[in-house]
Amino acid sequence: SFKALVAEQADGKPKIGLTRWTDADLPDGDVTVAVEWSSLNYKDGLALTGKGRILRKFPMVPGIDFAGTVTESKSPDFKPGDGVILTGWGVGESWSGGFAERARVKSEWLVPLPDGLGARQAMAVGTAGFTAMLCVMALEGHGIDREREILVTGAAGGVGSVAVRLLANLGYTVAASTGRPEQADYLKSLGASVIVDRNELSQPSKPLTSERWGGAVDTVGGVTLASVLAGTAYGGAVAACGLAGGADLPSTVMPFILRNVALLGVDSVNCPKPRRQEAWARIAKELPAEALDAVTTEITLEELPGKAEDILKGQVRGRTVVRIAG
Ligand code: NAP
Repeated sequence: SFKALVAEQADGKPKIGLTRWTDADLPDGDVTVAVEWSSLNYKDGLALTGKGRILRKFPMVPGIDFAGTVTESKSPDFKPGDGVILTGWGVGESWSGGFAERARVKSEWLVPLPDGLGARQAMAVGTAGFTAMLCVMALEGHGIDREREILVTGAAGGVGSVAVRLLANLGYTVAASTGRPEQADYLKSLGASVIVDRNELSQPSKPLTSERWGGAVDTVGGVTLASVLAGTAYGGAVAACGLAGGADLPSTVMPFILRNVALLGVDSVNCPKPRRQEAWARIAKELPAEALDAVTTEITLEELPGKAEDILKGQVRGRTVVRIAG
């Protein structure tokens, strides 16, 4: 048997507890993985607290991502001993996920651990960092003006921290928006040139404001995303991936039809495999170990439930890796 954090259904809310599972409790995939590291993402916070209807099956091991070593494989693509990463595909939502010492999944969901990236580093990136890379790739694909500032909202969070570092590494001038002024030094150490007070963006703005941002990565949504669109310069683009501030979008069409601004949707869960592999290869190349260490806090499986509330309150800085084994 192995250690597992399991969610049971109780009065319509998940009840989370550490227990022991056997292989027979795992879903029926073709690859079994000894999980070494998982991580805490915003969605895991919603799942563990029951504040979002994330968990679709009970009993279930939550945890939307993990990295570890293959122990058994019926797939020609993987063999025991291979290092693998899993993010998305509904794992940790409708299929048991990363908060256990063992996971069984479909081989087509797995990405081989790229050269130069260990399992702990892969989860320091995790779903959030992978999504940050997808946002950067979306902006690059559109083409953005290097002379202008690129804004990152929710900058001190997981997606935000990695996005700041990636964009700064690529030579962009990064403006980091945060509600935590005490994190200004942290954000500057990641490469931000300008710190923007979250309140500047969280008040309803005119449909168009002065052209400030060449592009943006938005993790917040709501009024913030509307303000970012209103302040994006002619021909700029905004990669929208999050809803930490709300799922609504109280905007107008003005930025689109008068400034040629593009709103680029970014999803990590069902991202096709070639783009996944491209993103992970770039992560391994562009995020040195020291960059990851700077954004990473480590916790145990026992400490995890307590941290779930914190991430929803916006009190977690950067990325949180969960030590599962090793
Ligand atoms: P996180 O670490 O909690 O980061 C979110 C950050 O947003 C917080 O640190 C905070 O940054 C800011 N924030 C929180 N509440 C806010 C509010 N009410 N108003 C304005 N800003 C607020 O979470 P994460 O794991 O990075 O995820 C960020 C968002 O991206 C979440 O909504 C998540 O669901 C989404 N996401 C989407 C995908 C996808 O596939 N599309 C993948 C991963 C994550 P400051 O303190 O710096 O202001």
